[in-house]
Amino acid sequence: MPAPLMDVFAPPPIDFVRGEGVWLYTESGEKYLDFIAGIAVNSLGHAHPQIAAALSEQAGKLWHVSNMFRIPGQQALAAKYVEATGLDRVFFCNSGTEAIEAALKTARKYFAAKGEPERFRIITFEGAFHGRSYAAINAGGNAAYLDGFGPRMDGFDQVPFGDIEAVKAAVTPETCAILIEPVQGEGGVRAAPLEYLKALRKLCDEHGLLLIYDEVQCGAGRTGKLFAYQWADGKADPDIMTVAKGVGAGFPLGACLATEEAAGGMQFGAHGTTFGGNPLAMAVGNAVWDILADPAFMEQVNATANYMSQQLHRLKDAHPDKVEEVRGKGLLVGLKLKDGVANKDIQKACRDEKLLIGVAGGNVLRFAPPLIATPDEARQAIDILDRALGQAGRAEA
Ligand SMILES: *Cc1c(COP(=O)(O)O)cnc(C)c1O
Repeated sequence: MPAPLMDVFAPPPIDFVRGEGVWLYTESGEKYLDFIAGIAVNSLGHAHPQIAAALSEQAGKLWHVSNMFRIPGQQALAAKYVEATGLDRVFFCNSGTEAIEAALKTARKYFAAKGEPERFRIITFEGAFHGRSYAAINAGGNAAYLDGFGPRMDGFDQVPFGDIEAVKAAVTPETCAILIEPVQGEGGVRAAPLEYLKALRKLCDEHGLLLIYDEVQCGAGRTGKLFAYQWADGKADPDIMTVAKGVGAGFPLGACLATEEAAGGMQFGAHGTTFGGNPLAMAVGNAVWDILADPAFMEQVNATANYMSQQLHRLKDAHPDKVEEVRGKGLLVGLKLKDGVANKDIQKACRDEKLLIGVAGGNVLRFAPPLIATPDEARQAIDILDRALGQAGRAEA
């Protein structure tokens, strides 16, 4: 009998009941190496003792009061995000798509409040993914996600990823912002060159546009810096930024950050949320951030990331008939496969060998292990992947 669930997902028949670090366990005690981490969410692995303690302590005290009342954890966590980014204002929500909604509204409201409501168009990029709300699917522009949901929402102009001339040509007097993932996740694990981000920053400055980064997937230490744009050393800073996924490490938490100026239109009553920033999320978010923000932690992320990168390049050389390209940055990395090998087949072959990985657009395998993964755990994942690639296509040959 089919489960009484909407058929929008198609999970394999495995039920995980417990996790520890980078490992997931089934009821019967089978052990899987988790190198997708709930799609870059479990940044600190499973059942991290400090995070579990923070959540259960808060659970015994206070869960929810709504934003009718002050929530001290919000003030504490916002101060941490502000210190880490140089942005000034934070709005807390529960997911990536909500963070995007807040960002799009912040950008449009900024111009409306300045008396320029006709500036509402936002430039976005091919291969983008910004979530599944109605505005987010329109910003993302993926036809498969838009199909059947009524007319396209006006106000998004999509250009090829990485093409600065196309962005310049798309700017009109109605443009208010540029929205980009510094590293595209779902669209194929593509990292924007830092020079490209700097060129976008410059273009925004020239035209008075707001630069919005969607760091829902690539933020929270995923690339080996707290935020992916920080690899550009202050030369490509955003006006507005979204975070989610890894900042909650498994608890639903998102945020939209903005400069004082860009947040200028978001005055009393302009936006809201019932659950966003609740005491449980704040207890977890603060505990997660205190771990991520420790420079020693990020050093270890970079050590594992360097190992992964070396090994993925080695696999590309070892399987030239199957692997086209190594993609991504830090611990958000991918292998673009050649046409004859399907990413889903390799993903399944790995799962059969107890390694969990993801896929992404353009026939890409996606790896987003918990940031606590060690080089030795990465080696175990690489060994399984190596075998899966080696065996791919054998049966047919
Ligand atoms: C996952 C994701 C989102 C949407 O986040 P949800 O929490 O699923 O709503 C938005 N942007 C990017 C870049 C993402 O990877």
